Amino acid sequence: MIDALIIGGGAAGLSCALVLGSAQNKAFAKDKSIAIITHQKTSHLQTALFNNVLGLAPGTTGESILDNGIAQLTALYPHVEQIDHEKVSDISKSENGFTVTTNKSTYTAKIVVVAVGYTNLININGLEPFIEPHPRAAAEKDRIWLKNTDHLIETNLYVAGTLAGWRSQFAIASGSGAHVATDILTLWNNGKHAKVHDKVL
Ligand SMILES: Cc1cc2nc3c(=O)[nH]c(=O)nc-3n(C[C@H](O)[C@H](O)[C@H](O)COP(=O)(O)OP(=O)(O)OC[C@H]3O[C@@H](n4cnc5c(N)ncnc54)[C@H](O)[C@@H]3O)c2cc1C
Repeated sequence: MIDALIIGGGAAGLSCALVLGSAQNKAFAKDKSIAIITHQKTSHLQTALFNNVLGLAPGTTGESILDNGIAQLTALYPHVEQIDHEKVSDISKSENGFTVTTNKSTYTAKIVVVAVGYTNLININGLEPFIEPHPRAAAEKDRIWLKNTDHLIETNLYVAGTLAGWRSQFAIASGSGAHVATDILTLWNNGKHAKVHDKVL
């Protein structure tokens, strides 16, 4: 049983994984198992070029962010399990959480974060009841969101990034993933607000 399973290795998913991973020394998080399904083939980052993101050198490619994000997670937070080359096809409720089925395997998780982007080509069984037209995208683009309140779809099921209803900007999607991570950390900390800051000594 995984404690928190993130689905999607794009802006929101990787940001969520990095913040969750960075809590490794907090007493309330250190025994938690965290995993991310790092599918990146359909990320909007694949073709993006960034000149307008604070902290990113102008000309940074989305492709490099995808590669460097995985490398950063591997180097700094190796306890976050990375599940590569798998695509989720089904999410269903199980006794103590959720069963997540991919093209290769099945996982059980107490908390699931769906961060697969806002395309209407989403084909994950089990999410149909939550799919609605995206509230902050041009209607002719047929984008979708998963109806949620502050990223929470239902107990222990979160959505992050553009699929959460945010406009498509890198900083917003990343911030959404980070936000969900701190909500999960807060949950693990028995409701006491949690965040993770490193400091120059
Ligand atoms: C051409 C282009 C240029 C852009 N330029 C800018 C810019 O200049 N400035 C800016 O701020 N923003 C820009 N953006 C927007 C930015 O890239 C997006 O806002 C951001 O990538 C959205 O993040 P996300 O995590 O919601 O989705 P994504 O980054 O698309 O990530 C979704 C992830 O889910 C994975 N996934 C999908 N289905 C499944 C499944 N069934 N199972 C498992 N994983 C799955 C995908 O492979 C992907 O990795 C641009 C986008 C594009 C397309």
